[in-house]
Amino acid sequence: MRCPYCSGETTQVKDSRPTDENQAIRRRRVCEDCGGRFTTFERVQLREILVIKRSGRRVPFDREKLSRSVEVALRKRPIQPERIERMVSGIVRQLESMGEQEVASQAVGALVMEALKGLDPVAYVRFASVYRDFREAADFHEVLSEIAEGAGPGGSAGRRSGLPSDAPAERRPEAGERKH
Ligand SMILES: [Zn+2]
Repeated sequence: MRCPYCSGETTQVKDSRPTDENQAIRRRRVCEDCGGRFTTFERVQLREILVIKRSGRRVPFDREKLSRSVEVALRKRPIQPERIERMVSGIVRQLESMGEQEVASQAVGALVMEALKGLDPVAYVRFASVYRDFREAADFHEVLSEIAEGAGPGGSAGRRSGLPSDAPAERRPEAGERKH
């Protein structure tokens, strides 16, 4: 951290403590060149992301809500809470790294699907059934066959599948339907 007085590049942290109800760290620094003292704050950069719903309405992205829907999909599945937490954090990071102020809810859903695919096939199907609004059994079959195909090169680590390997693929995905 460059000194604001002499632009010297060597400063020492003399004191470091949480502030602002633990939402920031306040540091007292001293410049080694001129002895100037100054304060810096470190805090989480929270860029608000807006989610565009299907209706066109925009709502602030809500990590808790995302977490809950993932937990519902994973209910009674043998996945440790820490892994779920890491998964949610991974999704949030991906959203943030998109660098967009607004993200379509479908894009959020697609990230969740991708993450669940590698984590737990059952949860993946559960989530997909809500996210894609399944109307007929054929939709389930389609997702099941996607999972079966999903273990391709570069695919996520969805190898531990407890899937029916003979999941009928009686309805092929429509042309142009994306897999990612
Ligand atoms: Zn200085």
